[in-house]
Amino acid sequence: MPSQSDILHKHPVSGTIVEEWIIPARGYAAFHMKKGQVLRFVDIEGKQVPDLVCFNAQDLGEAINMGNSLLINKRREFIKGNVIYSIRCRPMMTITDYSNALSYSYGPMCSEEVNRIRYGVPNTPNCRGNLAMALGPWGFNYRDIPNAFVPFMNVEVDGNGTMEIREPTSVPQLREHEAAFGMDGIGDAPPAAHLVLSPQPR
Ligand SMILES: [Zn+2]
Repeated sequence: MPSQSDILHKHPVSGTIVEEWIIPARGYAAFHMKKGQVLRFVDIEGKQVPDLVCFNAQDLGEAINMGNSLLINKRREFIKGNVIYSIRCRPMMTITDYSNALSYSYGPMCSEEVNRIRYGVPNTPNCRGNLAMALGPWGFNYRDIPNAFVPFMNVEVDGNGTMEIREPTSVPQLREHEAAFGMDGIGDAPPAAHLVLSPQPR
């Protein structure tokens, strides 16, 4: 049986690997990225989706804004080449590759409150809570987290506009569960950002 590390390295990447994380379900990571660096997700076990938020490291009030990104890209599901913009409509990240094209970008992530209403169960682990824990060292609280971009998430909208979350289609050990994001710079500010990801509960 291949190890997690074997799966992670199955498809080599060009350039130098700066850092790697293996994030367990319901886990999280937060880190700095510089302009030109690439963040690559590998869904090691399949059917997991990472929630991604990103901030200007020089001004933490400038975060990704999915509403602006939808309007500027003129798309609901983002594809390779699309750019994720900030609240000030400045480019923050570009989708540089995307082998599982499913994603969710037009609504908030789950929270304790949302899950309680949807499932009738209090105190579930949730993405908003995960991101708040990841961002705690930078002074964020639970309510400050912007809507995330969620690669691999499978949401279907039918002809009547009804939305349904379905199982992700990513399969372990296949290439179809990778996504890569290039970091854009923000103006002349030092090109760095906080980036946070958190695989959803499963
Ligand atoms: Zn969630």
